[in-house]
Amino acid sequence: MSILKKKAILIGCGISGPVMALFLKRIGIEATIYEAQTQHRDDAGAFLGISPNGLNVLKEFMPLDEVLTDFTPGKMTFFNARNKSIGEIDNANQNELYGAETVQLKRGLLNKAIREVAIAKGINIELGKKLTAITQDEKSATAFFDDGTNVTADFIIGCDGIHSAARKSLFPNGPKLSYTGLLSTGGFTKLTNVQDLYGSIRMTFGERAFFAYAISNLGDVWWFNNISRKKEPSRNELTAMELNQLKDTLLDLHKNDPEPIADIIKSANKVEIYPVYDIPFLEKWYKGRVCLIGDSAHATAPHIGQGASLALEDTIVLAKCIRDLPGLEAAFDKFQALRQKRVQKIVREARKVGDNKTVPNKFQQFFRDLLLPFFVKMEAKKMDWVYSYKVDWNEKIS
Ligand SMILES: Cc1cc2nc3c(=O)[nH]c(=O)nc-3n(C[C@H](O)[C@H](O)[C@H](O)COP(=O)(O)OP(=O)(O)OC[C@H]3O[C@@H](n4cnc5c(N)ncnc54)[C@H](O)[C@@H]3O)c2cc1C
Repeated sequence: MSILKKKAILIGCGISGPVMALFLKRIGIEATIYEAQTQHRDDAGAFLGISPNGLNVLKEFMPLDEVLTDFTPGKMTFFNARNKSIGEIDNANQNELYGAETVQLKRGLLNKAIREVAIAKGINIELGKKLTAITQDEKSATAFFDDGTNVTADFIIGCDGIHSAARKSLFPNGPKLSYTGLLSTGGFTKLTNVQDLYGSIRMTFGERAFFAYAISNLGDVWWFNNISRKKEPSRNELTAMELNQLKDTLLDLHKNDPEPIADIIKSANKVEIYPVYDIPFLEKWYKGRVCLIGDSAHATAPHIGQGASLALEDTIVLAKCIRDLPGLEAAFDKFQALRQKRVQKIVREARKVGDNKTVPNKFQQFFRDLLLPFFVKMEAKKMDWVYSYKVDWNEKIS
């Protein structure tokens, strides 16, 4: 049977799942998406950065206007704890250079926009299907769900994010998620008198924690903070935290940092909090008839805003490999070969940027602040190879 007559199971309807399904449809493969959630949660999560390398993949299926309804610009300006400007990463010429410009989008709304395109193109999405295990033989692969059902197809793609059950089923002794020593908090709020700050994400390396905020095109404040914490917290510990307790902690950490940071924290009605993880290295991204993409294969810390963009890059590259190479194993192998080096470099870079957000003591803070302007300048230069990555759908892979 030709590879293009095959049927696929996609696990996870996040950022990569629906786009993967669309590319597979383009090459004649019928894919069904199985999502653990019982209903779509378009208000889940805070926001994420998406840069030209990811946006150019989205453009394969939708005009960017459709996702740019509620966003903040991606330009970054950096300050130290004394509110002294220490540099910026400007995106002014990104459209010209790369064909799109970095933005921050609400994760839920991006997910919704992508999903709706997939549904409109006839992709079937089944909700309430939480993957528990995968089995396979020479002819097929089967996904088992926690409602007791199972489905079989020619191959399976794990698009099920950082805590991937597909990864655990494939590689039960594989590497565990690595806690990066940072907690992230964030959310959306409204404040008066900040609209003139529209235009960039203002990032402050504060005295005891990192804080960033931006004004959206609709005039809202989008913010996040990073807190250094050596010991990995338990899930229960974080979910048990009351909003006021969390806000008090943040206010204390940022008490000496510039305004309007305290006002933003005080005005928050909801605060997301999660530990930051990555996967430093997963040796193999596939096994037999099952392949992993996105966070499932290579979760990265969010500090250079590449998680969603890398997941999107994966979708187009994997679809081309399946289209052009004889057999699944060859396709998955080539996919990993084409992607792993780049992805690994970005995961390492994100970790490094995160490490700069931690402030162990006053002495180290002094030297960090001294070096930050150079660090920011170097980071700005370094991003060109990340943003300029563009995959030509028509170019054949051999
Ligand atoms: C609810 C949610 C909120 C998020 N919020 C943010 C944020 O605020 N900022 C940020 O930078 N990143 C956030 N992320 C992560 C971000 O979306 C990813 O890092 C990135 O987009 C990579 O996309 P992905 O497709 O690999 O994984 P994701 O976009 O994470 O998608 C994974 C999908 O798989 C589903 N899934 C998980 N386990 C199973 C299972 N066992 N069976 C079936 N389906 C399963 C999930 O429900 C989800 O829909 C969030 C992810 C989720 C799921």
